[in-house]
Amino acid sequence: MENRKVYLGLGTNSGNKKENLTRAIENLSLALGLPTACSTFIESEPWGFESENSFLNCVVAFDTHLSPTELLDTTEEIERRLGRTSKSHNGQYSDRTIDIDILFYGNEVINSDRLTIPHPLLHLRNFVLRPLHEIAPQLTHPAMGRTIDELLAELSK
Ligand code: AMP
Repeated sequence: MENRKVYLGLGTNSGNKKENLTRAIENLSLALGLPTACSTFIESEPWGFESENSFLNCVVAFDTHLSPTELLDTTEEIERRLGRTSKSHNGQYSDRTIDIDILFYGNEVINSDRLTIPHPLLHLRNFVLRPLHEIAPQLTHPAMGRTIDELLAELSK
């Protein structure tokens, strides 16, 4: 399979957050090779649930030959390894050591049992669009036909 550019959204709101993101990027690099780009780490408020713990988020880009499901297996394994004990329960969000979302997989639009790509909430989330904008402002959302620059401007209105 040829290489695809993938964008991963990382978030953490417990423990040593800076270290959690750094360790996640190190583990991803071991599995996927070095990132082609990495945003700064940005702080954000919990989204979709109440918590006293703010989040630290970033977006990282890789070129990979892994298929979408192989990539998901890899990111889930790293989430487990870094100590995330539970997935979201019944759609309820909770504090987590590390959450890794696949935001984009090349230009592909995927709707399977395990994967929705592009990630269905990315255009609604400031904590995704801001770091993504740092590294790929002209990237076009393949289903919405808008650039990250346009999506961020729209969300900021
Ligand atoms: P969560 O616990 O909220 O991070 O949700 C993880 C679940 O979302 C996993 O079981 C995945 O199969 C599913 N999922 C669907 N689309 C995606 C995506 N684009 N990136 C990561 N996980 C996804």
